[in-house]
Amino acid sequence: MVPLPTAQSRAVIVGAGIAGVSAAAGMRSAGWDGEILLIGDEPELPYRRPPVSKEIIRGDKTADQIRIKPENWYEQQAIGLRRETPVVALNAEAHTVRLAGGETISFDRLLLATGGIARQMSDAKGARTLRTLADVPRLKSQLTPGQHLIVVGAGLIGSEIAASARGLGCEVTLLETASLPLPRLLPPLLGQMYVDLHKRNGTELHTDVTVMNIIDEGGETVVRAADGRAWSAPVVVVAIGMDPATGLADAAGLEIASPQSGGGIVVDTHGQTSIPGIYAAGDVANMPNAVLGGRHRVEHWQNAQNHGTAVGKAMAGADSAFAEVPWCWSDQYDINLQVTGWPQSSHDVLVRGSIDAHDFCAFFFDDGALIGAVTIGRPGNVRQARKWIAAGVRLRPEALVDEEAALADSVIA
Ligand SMILES: Cc1cc2nc3c(=O)[nH]c(=O)nc-3n(C[C@H](O)[C@H](O)[C@H](O)COP(=O)(O)OP(=O)(O)OC[C@H]3O[C@@H](n4cnc5c(N)ncnc54)[C@H](O)[C@@H]3O)c2cc1C
Repeated sequence: MVPLPTAQSRAVIVGAGIAGVSAAAGMRSAGWDGEILLIGDEPELPYRRPPVSKEIIRGDKTADQIRIKPENWYEQQAIGLRRETPVVALNAEAHTVRLAGGETISFDRLLLATGGIARQMSDAKGARTLRTLADVPRLKSQLTPGQHLIVVGAGLIGSEIAASARGLGCEVTLLETASLPLPRLLPPLLGQMYVDLHKRNGTELHTDVTVMNIIDEGGETVVRAADGRAWSAPVVVVAIGMDPATGLADAAGLEIASPQSGGGIVVDTHGQTSIPGIYAAGDVANMPNAVLGGRHRVEHWQNAQNHGTAVGKAMAGADSAFAEVPWCWSDQYDINLQVTGWPQSSHDVLVRGSIDAHDFCAFFFDDGALIGAVTIGRPGNVRQARKWIAAGVRLRPEALVDEEAALADSVIA
């Protein structure tokens, strides 16, 4: 049994990304009046990560324009922010963490909001990744007009880097293992739309490419595929996903989910791990799926923000169970995509509007139940679908695709 918090209690939050900052704010809003120590290993004042592959790499925004909170907010909220301070060990029994400099800090509540680490290829020399602001300057300095860039991986981040680089006038080759781009996010019907979008914007997309290795030949980096094809360019970025940063938790004996169930630190609906008093939130947390049953781990901004807030409140003693339907967006070229729920290729799909005109909402059904929705141009439809998924509302398909009928008329009363 973990003792109730007092004004003398100390909460330590490891990871100063959106989940960590939101948790600190959530704790204060739920009445935690003890100490809060927010410890991050990046040198920057906490920032919003999504612009890194968009406005930041394009040079449309500066680091100071993407701060999560202004610098004085931390002081106003009495949140002790320590930057550039990796936490290197957790003793779950003694309730202490050790910092890279050797200092040991005790805690009454601990949050692990450590996010993830850009996945590397085992045999890759001369390629780089993009996840943090620290990754930006070198890459950005090379993305000059006419420069050739190869991006390995046409998932959300790889596709965004490709689109941003095209916007900067680079020649871009985008390589993807699957047969369509955005394979984890979109079903084939919509993946095909992105094939066309890349083509129209001058990105050379190659799918069904299994990259074997990447070799630095000094000035040129060569990407070789298993089938013998090869591409070379002065700049190569690998964007093949991320691995949840579970090292501290694993070494301390906390339960970790298997890769088959999404990996990450296993938490309950309040974000508590297998050890009382220790919590996890955001990209690193493997949480119960309140809609589908089972568990899942989500790598979306809004999830990390709202999960962090809810878990922070729970750490302060509030009953703030988390049960949101995921929602995310991606900006590529001039197209804003929004996705909610869990759309998959095995689901039945109904489209309201026109995919070709980039003005549609596609609704995905599993055994008659709405399970996901994807839109370009109709964010209101996705907001509605998200509420319907959460509420388990049944719908009339003919009304859903009838542009003459209001969306609300689809609901079976
Ligand atoms: C380039 C990029 C673009 C994205 N674009 C979108 C988008 O368009 N839409 C969308 O929905 N989502 C997007 N995402 C995903 C979104 O940014 C993440 O879901 C979100 O940032 C997760 O927040 P988090 O706080 O859980 O983890 P993170 O943002 O990863 O933050 C974790 C922090 O903890 C630190 N840390 C880790 N270990 C330690 C340690 N031992 N000691 C101290 N500090 C530690 C890390 O360095 C990091 O600063 C994007 C992600 C990236 C990388």
